[in-house]
Amino acid sequence: MERPDELTRTADEPLDLAPRPQVDAALAAAIYRSHFASATEATPTVVELPGERDRTFRIDLDGRPAFVLKVAGPVEDRDLLVAQNDAMRHLAARSTDLAVPTPVAARDGRTIVEASDASGVERLVRCLSWLPGTPLAFAATDRDDSDLARSVGVAAGEVSRALADFHATPFARPFQWDVTRAWELVARHRGAVERPDRRALLDRWLIASAPVAAGVGALPRSVVHNDANDHNVLVEDGRVVGLIDFGDMVESVAIAEASVAVAYAMLDARDPLAVAAAVIDGFLSVRPVSTAEREAILPLAVARLALSAALSAYQQRRQPANPYLAISEAPVWEALERLDGVVFDAPRAPSDLLARRRRRLGPSLSFAYADPLTILLGRGAYLYDDHARRYLDGVNNVCHVGHAHPRVVAAGAGQMARLNTNTRYLHPLVVAYAERLTALLPAPLDVCYFVNSGSEANELALRLSRAATGRRDVAVLAGAYHGNTSSLVDISPYKFDGPGGAGRPDHVHVAPLPDAYRGVHPIGTTDLAAWYAERLTDVLAEATAQARPVGAFIVESLPGAAGQIVFPEGYLGRAYAAARSAGAIVIADEVQVGFGRVGSEVWGFELDAGAVPDIVTLGKPIGNGHPLGAVVTTRAIADAFANGMEYFSTFGGNPVSAAIGLAVLDVMRDEALQANALAMGTLLLERLRDLSASTSRIGDVRGAGLFIGVELVRDRDTRTPAATEATGVVEAAKAAGVLLSTDGPDHNVVKIKPPLVVGEREVERLLAALARGLAKIART
Ligand code: PMP
Repeated sequence: MERPDELTRTADEPLDLAPRPQVDAALAAAIYRSHFASATEATPTVVELPGERDRTFRIDLDGRPAFVLKVAGPVEDRDLLVAQNDAMRHLAARSTDLAVPTPVAARDGRTIVEASDASGVERLVRCLSWLPGTPLAFAATDRDDSDLARSVGVAAGEVSRALADFHATPFARPFQWDVTRAWELVARHRGAVERPDRRALLDRWLIASAPVAAGVGALPRSVVHNDANDHNVLVEDGRVVGLIDFGDMVESVAIAEASVAVAYAMLDARDPLAVAAAVIDGFLSVRPVSTAEREAILPLAVARLALSAALSAYQQRRQPANPYLAISEAPVWEALERLDGVVFDAPRAPSDLLARRRRRLGPSLSFAYADPLTILLGRGAYLYDDHARRYLDGVNNVCHVGHAHPRVVAAGAGQMARLNTNTRYLHPLVVAYAERLTALLPAPLDVCYFVNSGSEANELALRLSRAATGRRDVAVLAGAYHGNTSSLVDISPYKFDGPGGAGRPDHVHVAPLPDAYRGVHPIGTTDLAAWYAERLTDVLAEATAQARPVGAFIVESLPGAAGQIVFPEGYLGRAYAAARSAGAIVIADEVQVGFGRVGSEVWGFELDAGAVPDIVTLGKPIGNGHPLGAVVTTRAIADAFANGMEYFSTFGGNPVSAAIGLAVLDVMRDEALQANALAMGTLLLERLRDLSASTSRIGDVRGAGLFIGVELVRDRDTRTPAATEATGVVEAAKAAGVLLSTDGPDHNVVKIKPPLVVGEREVERLLAALARGLAKIART
């Protein structure tokens, strides 16, 4: 039988798989006392530190860290440990600013002693000096800080310079963390990576980096420390002061010292290529290299990440109980995914893209932001651009359960690979989806139609209402947007009253928007819900008086384009009643706000207890980015529509869309995302209200769950809309790595409606970016 490639190994690897030394803190304390402690010394406190092959313990004396006790693993023979000790002493003698640990002699003068572990195997043990400073991983530092990144580069450069004349034959060994072996080991272990998309990524890297692999053999060689990761780099006051852990030293290409530092610095950075540039700059400032070496630094950093990803997949399969192996796995994959398409395949986002788009796509398509973004990757709540820069997506209510959610992707791809047809055949998925969706809606909303967009849903809702009432006229709220088709532009004041609009058609009747902050109600109106419901009643009566009775009142449950409006409590129920008493059907447009976003309820209309529409239209979030829309109505209305004319949508309700819709429902349930929208939305609203206390530019903060608007004004008394300022805040937030947008009739409302997967970290990030934007406009 052929062995899967992840199970084949070379001669240098079997020892890696031997068990780690069996030593716990108590045994480490005993070993320390019997070999290293002075007779008068107090009892040490011993704490185990993480390790891959060996066992490492911190020895505290008098409550302070004093030494590190290292019990070597099976791959480290005595000659290798001697060489590591020599290298530490060599570096300690050479470098000025950078501290490194040095071996501490045992009572008998030796720096390597023997001790039995718990299973009776003899192990080699060393005691090293303890260094001050905090591992970068635990320091409260900004990973994008270019001074810090440069300092990491300088430290790597100093080590590289000091090791240039250091030689020790034990380091000329085949070793898995030698970056020059990345191609061999990735090719061999890629099979251990479970996710097919990640295996494919490693394959793309293998192909794209082939020229780099071909040139590696010609680069100058040296012994390298080879492990400047954030657990081994010690910082103080935002600067690197020490380097620990010499267990991965190997003879490799000299430039690997820089590449390893770059690879780890890129993890968790918002702007990895800028961080890489700063590390490289620091490195070159103390360690000049040839052009060929300089050009290899970044590609070898990516090679190191690919190697790390493949080895951790392989090792976790063999040693599932060692959590150390998974420490940097998630950020390594994230970094690789961000760099894919940027450094793997640079021509994918060519610099003439904007000009080509302008040439071949219609000019009425707009861009977000003054300097358009090229977005190539989405993951969870984050988007990545063509420079691998990361942005928190604060405004994408479409990728509701997170960008590229693996379960949604798998459901779509899996069904694509089986079948895609239309609703003229029976298929279990579309029926199951209709059952699951209607179960989320109150009675009597229990019949579905499936379409491909929010516009198509509203278009069909209008047809249903016309069939059921025999009336064509429609009532809407001021500022509303309901879709892009001709009939929907006709009923959208946001469009027909906006630039290029042709004004209100006769069959459309507009009631004032119940906007508690900026609405047309007289000052001092106490019951806003009643006042605005009466205005709707007036509009409906006026239409009837003109012999144009209204057949449908269509209303977004929380108007978005009109400025992220939350209705006064009780408005919707009264408005629905007013519409019905005028003989109209109520259509709730939940395309933007529905599906758990408001947190406390599944649907926006449910914020008003007892308000039940006759037709609900759904879109955007239900397909998580896949074009999927739905209309849910009552049996009576559906029957009225079935007048003999067939309703058919080629793509509506196809099995792929149904599979995706079902997966989105599953994820919503399994990840409790509606509850998360409530928790994070409540936190965000609270913090935004705190923020508004510190700036007079915020006129109003409103929202429900993760559907929030921050209305900016020039003056809190006059409430003069601050439109250019709102745009300024959105641009500044973008520069700080958070994507937002503006809306509202005066373009002065900052919209916040992120995917529902945001956590507290994202809430803080969003607030920090907004605060930065507000501070910026305060200065201008
Ligand atoms: N209704 C509302 C409330 C919307 O926000 C939108 C889209 N912005 C639509 C309908 C139209 O949806 P689509 O763009 O998917 O056609």
